[in-house]
Amino acid sequence: MSILDTFSLSGRTALVTGGYKGIGLALARGLAEAGADVVIGARDGEASEEVARQIAEETGRTVVGTRLDVTDAQSCVAAVEVALGRTGRFDILVNNAGACIHAPALEVTDEDWDAVMDVNVGGLWKMSRAAGTHFAEAGSGTIVNIGSMSGGIVNRPQWQPAYNASKAAVHHLTKSLAAEWAPLGIRVNAVAPGYVKTEMAPVDDPAFRARWIDDAPMQRFAMPEEIAPAVVFLASDASSFMTGSVVTIDGGYSVF
Ligand code: NDP
Repeated sequence: MSILDTFSLSGRTALVTGGYKGIGLALARGLAEAGADVVIGARDGEASEEVARQIAEETGRTVVGTRLDVTDAQSCVAAVEVALGRTGRFDILVNNAGACIHAPALEVTDEDWDAVMDVNVGGLWKMSRAAGTHFAEAGSGTIVNIGSMSGGIVNRPQWQPAYNASKAAVHHLTKSLAAEWAPLGIRVNAVAPGYVKTEMAPVDDPAFRARWIDDAPMQRFAMPEEIAPAVVFLASDASSFMTGSVVTIDGGYSVF
């Protein structure tokens, strides 16, 4: 097998949570371009089906949209069943779904806190358990979590304590599951992107731009497509000796 072949996802099925827009959409497209069949799970089932049709046309892969709420354990199990039912296999989970609230600590309500933790930590856990159950039976599987540079730094001027804490938890859960599940043939890694131009990042706020563009090494945000290659790599055999890693993709933001 050539080194390029190790990056191929041909013959595998991936599930991307929250995969109908933003970074998740770029990941779904990237995984399909790398040869995988893909299930796009999103709370908006119709939108995910529409996007799935487009990517299937572009790539010639089997791409399926399905309704998925990662905070609902049964919904997570059902999404795994869709992958198995529609493509006959399930090999790669990309935990992309996420929520963020920009507010200083004293303005964070209990509802805000729970909303962020329920998706970013609880949802990621419920989806990983559903996938891990199948991967353990199959004796192989790969999970790629979308963490954040915010899991290791403090964001200002848009304070986001709940989000920071949740992404630190994602990075640690990546290591915990990697260690526990390695003997089962399951690899678990994460990427930690810096700011990416999506609905989640306040890219038009002048104070935000001053901190995260003018005063940053590469002086720009990432585009969603720039996160996909690292996720394909971590999902593929090219990273066969990597587990428990958190790969930074932040244009140098976190060096300051
Ligand atoms: P978006 O807001 O565009 O996408 C977030 C996605 O998560 C949406 O598809 C959203 O669906 C989905 N989602 C939220 N809650 C749930 C749920 N309960 N069940 C299923 N899906 C859900 O933001 P991004 O694309 O930027 O974010 C994608 C990931 O990347 C997140 O984990 C985020 O934390 C991370 N990230 C983003 C960065 C950035 O600068 N943009 C930087 C670093 C990491 P819905 O539309 O239904 O809410």
